[in-house]
Amino acid sequence: PHPTPLAPSTDPFALAKALSGKHFIGGRYVPALSGKTFPVVNPATGEQVAAAAEGDAADVDAAVKNAAEAQKAWAKLPARKRGALVYQAAALIREHVEELSRLVALETGKALRTESRVEANNVADIFEFFGGLGGEIKGETVPFGPDVLNITVREPLGVVGAIIPWNIPMMLMALKAAPALVAGNSIVVKSAEEAPLAVLRIVELMNRVLPPGVFNILSGQGAECGAPLVEHKLVRKVTFTGSVETGKIIARTAADKLIPATLELGGKSPMIVFADCDFEKTVAGALTSMRFTRQGQSCTAASRIFVQRPIFDKFVAEMATRVDAMVMGDPLDEKTDIGTIISPGQYEKVKAFIAEGAATAGATGRACSAMPSDSALKKGLFIQPYIFTGLSKDSRLVREEIFGPVTVVFPFDDADSVLAEANDTEFGLAATVWTNDLKIALRFAHQLEAGLVQVNQNLVVQPNLSYGGVKNSGLGKEASLESMLEHFTHKKTIMVNMA
Ligand code: NAD
Repeated sequence: PHPTPLAPSTDPFALAKALSGKHFIGGRYVPALSGKTFPVVNPATGEQVAAAAEGDAADVDAAVKNAAEAQKAWAKLPARKRGALVYQAAALIREHVEELSRLVALETGKALRTESRVEANNVADIFEFFGGLGGEIKGETVPFGPDVLNITVREPLGVVGAIIPWNIPMMLMALKAAPALVAGNSIVVKSAEEAPLAVLRIVELMNRVLPPGVFNILSGQGAECGAPLVEHKLVRKVTFTGSVETGKIIARTAADKLIPATLELGGKSPMIVFADCDFEKTVAGALTSMRFTRQGQSCTAASRIFVQRPIFDKFVAEMATRVDAMVMGDPLDEKTDIGTIISPGQYEKVKAFIAEGAATAGATGRACSAMPSDSALKKGLFIQPYIFTGLSKDSRLVREEIFGPVTVVFPFDDADSVLAEANDTEFGLAATVWTNDLKIALRFAHQLEAGLVQVNQNLVVQPNLSYGGVKNSGLGKEASLESMLEHFTHKKTIMVNMA
């Protein structure tokens, strides 16, 4: 048992305080070597709730060396045993779902009922899924005559460096840590500066079962803590989720070291609605797809919606009416549908996009959902969701990822033109098509430039389905057995001549 367990608590404020000033390295909570911290703020009130350890290159070095040492014994365990331990640790996550949900709601402003609890449950699912796959880490036999035995084996890469953003921090960490660990690697995670708490708690919980040093986490800023992690010579693989800009910096460093990098980047995902769709189901689908419950801070959010002209006006009106009915408020309140934007910087950025859209001649921006009236939330980073129509295709609102509660809607007439428009973007993460015409659905599924296309539904990532973008949305896949084998192991060829 590791020496520093924290008592369970469903009071996220108390837990946030208790988690202050800590990394988790080598099986225990440790402060930053510099002793420095940075504030963690509740975006619903603007109040500081914790002070996170501020990591730098020295902390990175300590964590990576620890991880490299621990990885040697971890890699020698049979893969099924490693999987069994990860599976066992997943049960601890499951037991702490309520606590983790509250903690992540507090630090990110994501509503407990609509977003945070769903995320915490997904985390347990992901660790369970990969925990069960230990036995699938195996190679092939390749015939080469009676006197030669040719086999391949799957070996771990060593220490994995993982860098995650704040929007679904627990789930994005799980999608990296679970396959990395089961495959026999150790991992050092650099959490997002806005959301370092729930992920830190997860690492501690899992260390109650895993051997010390295989699963470590540091908090800190991108340049001071993230960059040295990618640069560290003992880090042999990097896996990143975040912006295109940072992804390119990380890819360049990985190229200099000749190590593999998996990159999950931004999106500007189209939702295409044909007039023959099931109207009811599709409007409900639009509500989920826009991800206003997460204030649009979702890489797969339907931020460009194309609706066939005969139903355009009715569809947009119905969408707006339904968003109006959503409750914006305290993320920790069970009644709340929509919480807050993550940070003042992101708030200003989204507001600027909205102002630009509102000032565009010929465009209409419909603000939906009432702002919270509670005076305790008056400094909260709440933004009314916006649905824009009448924008030009060259508008920044149409071309750039806003990562806020803003969608743009266009009418279209025929399938060919909407397909070209949907693909006219630098991104290629996800897309949805809504129609009862199977021929159209399949044609779009094949011709949309995206890593994930869904027809008549928009579900969250499943641990057993490959997930990842094309074009500027990234390189490589997460989730699925195949992603574990391809991205967290290398295939060694062994030839034995017995002649
Ligand atoms: P970001 O790139 O600014 O930050 C992400 C992480 O990278 C943070 O931990 C940050 O500290 C770190 N970082 C920043 N600079 C770094 C550097 N030079 N070296 C190493 N690490 C560094 O992204 P963000 O704005 O916080 O996150 C939102 C972005 O994430 C959006 O673009 C969104 O689309 C994307 N995202 C993608 C997916 C996906 O699955 N494709 C999922 C969620 C979010």
